[in-house]
Amino acid sequence: MQKTILHLDLDTFFVSVERKLDSRLKQKPILVGGLSDRGVVAACSYETRGYGVHSGMPMRMARELCPEAVVIRGNAGTYSKHSDEVTEIIKEQVPLFEKSSIDEFYADLTGMDRFFGCYRYATELRQRIIQEAGLPISFGLSVNKVVSKMATGEAKPNNQLKIDFGYEKAFLAPLSIKKIPMVGDKTYQTLRNLGLRQIRTVQEMPVEVMQQVLGANGRVIWKRAQGIDNSPVVPFCERKSISTERTFDRDTIDVHRLRGILIAMTENLAFQLRRGSKLTACVTVKIRYSDFNTYSKQLRIPYTSADHKLIPKILDLFEKLYDRRLLVRLIGVRFSHLVSGDYQINLFEDTEEVLNLYNAMDRIRERFGDKSVIRASGLGARTIGRMHNPFDGRPPIVLAHRKQ
Ligand SMILES: [Mg+2]
Repeated sequence: MQKTILHLDLDTFFVSVERKLDSRLKQKPILVGGLSDRGVVAACSYETRGYGVHSGMPMRMARELCPEAVVIRGNAGTYSKHSDEVTEIIKEQVPLFEKSSIDEFYADLTGMDRFFGCYRYATELRQRIIQEAGLPISFGLSVNKVVSKMATGEAKPNNQLKIDFGYEKAFLAPLSIKKIPMVGDKTYQTLRNLGLRQIRTVQEMPVEVMQQVLGANGRVIWKRAQGIDNSPVVPFCERKSISTERTFDRDTIDVHRLRGILIAMTENLAFQLRRGSKLTACVTVKIRYSDFNTYSKQLRIPYTSADHKLIPKILDLFEKLYDRRLLVRLIGVRFSHLVSGDYQINLFEDTEEVLNLYNAMDRIRERFGDKSVIRASGLGARTIGRMHNPFDGRPPIVLAHRKQ
């Protein structure tokens, strides 16, 4: 059966929330991000784009390019609250939807056509979000996720676009290859060096050539260029916490080893957070002693997914909790109060160097496994298990108590 997939994307989300909270910011050029000298732009209003400003650029450079811009330090908690508000509206209206980031959603409207008309339905949903949440949002509607997302991109700002069945290739043909999701700066350069500019040219190429140049990715990009995509809408399943724990074969009192394991656990969970585009605002350490008495201690923290922020908190909780006179049977770490938010949201606090470091570490982990890069202090704890993405919409996995 022909599918009908809707993609919704809140326009310049962080900027729009700031404007909703303070109407004096309307029409003014706005930069949201880290305010330190080495901070990065997390979001910018359309008014700044004419000056050559874009997100991800160093804040210092953005301020030089657009000195009249109002600069705001972002607040992850505020944005996730407004994101949840929009999620609730969608949840009420759409049976099957996916929340792919803090400001983006996919909905599978297949089969709804007979009753209502998907385009009309999507239009009404969008109007409802604009009215009830007070935030501008755009949508694209087509037969699959990729074409719908690209249609949203063309519709923006604050508009909507439907690509009728059979017109996918024609819609994509004149667009830049840069607009294909998955084509980053590096791939774009590779393709530009081959003389490719428009998607049309990729459409006319044999798939083998793309595969030769870009490997397996080349095939996917070629398919996307044809408007082909079979990826399903993954049902939204809110996960409120993520945790890991370990029971020891032999109860231990080796504090150095316990600390090493806690560090490794924290690193692993933080990587899972980043992979699932999540942030935590509450950390917990749990200890079970050999007499089976179990104690835990938790701490509220500013939203983060960064190891270097989380590890000191975890070690601190452990120091406060741990009673040195008793043998330890089990230790565990839990992150809760999770919210969606990708790297962008960490840009309020982190510098470009820190972000690049995490990006590089996570890329290595994606390729070679969770344990390929770990802190030297966590080296003693080699048996932290590899987890699959816990935020892919599948029901939470019960983590096995790993024996050591
Ligand atoms: Mg957006």
